[in-house]
Amino acid sequence: MSLFENTLKQIRKASLLMNLPANVEEVLSHPERIIEVSLPVVMDNGHLRVFQAFRVQHNSIRGPYKGGIRYHPQVDMDEVKALSTWMTMKCAVVGIPLGGAKGGIVMDPKSLSARELEAVTREYARAMTPFIGPEIDVPAPDVYTNSQIMAWIADEYSKIKGHNVLGVVTGKAIETGGSLGRDSATSQGGVYIIEEYLQSVGKQAAGMTVAVQGFGNAGSHVARLLSELGMKVIAISDSKSALHCADGIDASAAMVCKLEKGQVGECTPVGAKCDIITNEQLLALPCDILVLSALENQVRVDNADSVQARLIVELANGPVTPEADEILARKGVPVIPDILANAGGVTVSYFELVQNQMNYYWSLEEVLGKLKPIMQNAWRDVHGNAVKFGCTYREAAFITALRKLEAAITMRRGK
Ligand code: GLU
Repeated sequence: MSLFENTLKQIRKASLLMNLPANVEEVLSHPERIIEVSLPVVMDNGHLRVFQAFRVQHNSIRGPYKGGIRYHPQVDMDEVKALSTWMTMKCAVVGIPLGGAKGGIVMDPKSLSARELEAVTREYARAMTPFIGPEIDVPAPDVYTNSQIMAWIADEYSKIKGHNVLGVVTGKAIETGGSLGRDSATSQGGVYIIEEYLQSVGKQAAGMTVAVQGFGNAGSHVARLLSELGMKVIAISDSKSALHCADGIDASAAMVCKLEKGQVGECTPVGAKCDIITNEQLLALPCDILVLSALENQVRVDNADSVQARLIVELANGPVTPEADEILARKGVPVIPDILANAGGVTVSYFELVQNQMNYYWSLEEVLGKLKPIMQNAWRDVHGNAVKFGCTYREAAFITALRKLEAAITMRRGK
């Protein structure tokens, strides 16, 4: 099943509920620009290898294109088209003045040396230079990319332009023009949304149990932040293994251990009663909240029925398929969708861009003080639409985004 087709289905569903003008749906069903490049790089063994890479600029009616770049052996154009569309929706849900884009390079970054990784990244930056910039399109980290990769892109782009252009990418380290709070922003935004959700259903955070799939940037920070709210993280996983500890996992210690040992499966605390389980078993654990922070298509038609969590939160993009969505809705398991739950990341990316352009930087308190009301307002809008249309949170989030996009498109271009 094509991921982009799934995205179009999500737009279709919301569009039918809200009576979206057909022209608006048509515009949003096609990315504005698709860039595909070949990146020739001399590898450490002296041989030349050509990497396939993409950037899809989905829509810029609300502002410059914005979205991450992923390095993954399975990334393809279809996936990048879907991810770029979700970025347009995400920025609209939280109301930040940005459009949607996404990039990808087909490669396994774990199999490349640091020099090779830098060479591919700089080649990508050179190929993308005509199409990116603070007022055009601003890339950021995504799956298997990080602040080091952003530093190389900013450096290469700045060299070509002949002056320092920090705002060409976000997700940079503080030393290279990053924003305080950006590293944990995706998770922090998700936690603000979870707090709002719990308040709306009259439940307390303290004592709740959580399973977290994916222990990268989003997964590790969300485990830590939810523990700070008094929740018990009972399971975590990464691409290699999964760890289940009924008495709870110390998220900060697991973060340190994962860095050292490379996988969470080797992070059983001394003396604790833990089991090594599979990713599939983690998805089926009885718990209050299942946070999906790995990749897309994790909860599908074949395993959605076995989910026992009371709430699903999508910190990854697209982890629940449309068929699984229907099964979960029938089972009465609410899903807080990606375009709302993980929008804190791009929101603080927006703050980073603004700070770069002003060349004036905010304290962590200022950053969080601006992020929180944005997430709370987005929750209020999405929750309001879920009640008004009697629909799921995903449908309501799409309705929220599409209304704003509709207003911009029809005011500028007519119905
Ligand atoms: N890759 C993140 C996302 O999917 C962040 C994008 C950004 O900051 O531009 O939302």
